[in-house]
Amino acid sequence: MIDFQGILNNIHDDLKAQEVKGIVASYIPELSKKDVNNLGLFMQHVDGRSFSAGDAFTPFSIQSISKVLALSKAIAFEDNKIWERVDVEPSGNPFNHLSLLELENGIPRNPLINSGALVIADILVSHLENPKEDFLQYVRDISNDQTIKYNFKVADSEESTGFNNFAAAYLLKSFNNLNNSVEDVLDFYFHQCSIEMSCAQLSKAFYLFANGGKCMNNKQHIPVKQAKRINAIMLTCGFYDEAGEFAFEVGLPGKSGVGGGIVALLPNNFIIATWAPGLNPRGNSLIGMQALEQFTSQTNLSIF
Ligand code: GLN
Repeated sequence: MIDFQGILNNIHDDLKAQEVKGIVASYIPELSKKDVNNLGLFMQHVDGRSFSAGDAFTPFSIQSISKVLALSKAIAFEDNKIWERVDVEPSGNPFNHLSLLELENGIPRNPLINSGALVIADILVSHLENPKEDFLQYVRDISNDQTIKYNFKVADSEESTGFNNFAAAYLLKSFNNLNNSVEDVLDFYFHQCSIEMSCAQLSKAFYLFANGGKCMNNKQHIPVKQAKRINAIMLTCGFYDEAGEFAFEVGLPGKSGVGGGIVALLPNNFIIATWAPGLNPRGNSLIGMQALEQFTSQTNLSIF
């Protein structure tokens, strides 16, 4: 029997003491207020057991991790039609890169870079009656937790500084790949990114991807086939131009956010979430990646 609790404790203590912690994102001014010394770890096993260490229950800005949840909701509406508007290839570029979008006629490389996530946001704005309220309710339902909230200060902060996302949205619009107005799509997108969740809540939200589309309440939210596809997209695209490195070091499908969170999972086995706000130069949590590398090496649990 693997001593998951002992392993999480050791990883936490080892990395908490490490001096190099990365740099907290400051391009969204509200995020720069976070303390680089936070470190949380939470593991949810599909058999119901869970384990935690450090700041595992402190909510933080999930940012790009929300892209996976948005994709899973959009798939429920459009199924295969989504793939006419967004591709499923790794981009090898930073999350906010624009040049490929122009070269490839407004079809984003994948739904986990910003331009792809904007197309997914457009689909949700088209289909949801009250997009922001309904999406938050979906996140609460799959997590089995009605306390999850938007952070309006973070959403406003990004709305007033997110010029790169405005550029991406206008480019998509010029290629007829947005049906709604740039303002409506961005307003939705900035709010989805501002959702705050803890490592514990994220592990429960991502349970459905490890469990063939069924959440912890045993409700089927997406078909098994779509859960498989979303895991494949996380593995190949979840860490932007560091997806290869994450597969190489950690060996799990996962998704990062510039708030310092990472969620990763082994299908039919476990979900693990980490939070450490200091980022590496590619915008992924520096300590979070090290924690997950240590976890899969010490437990010998990875998809490889
Ligand atoms: N809201 C952020 C942005 O669009 C999300 C980026 C991220 O977490 N990688 O820039």
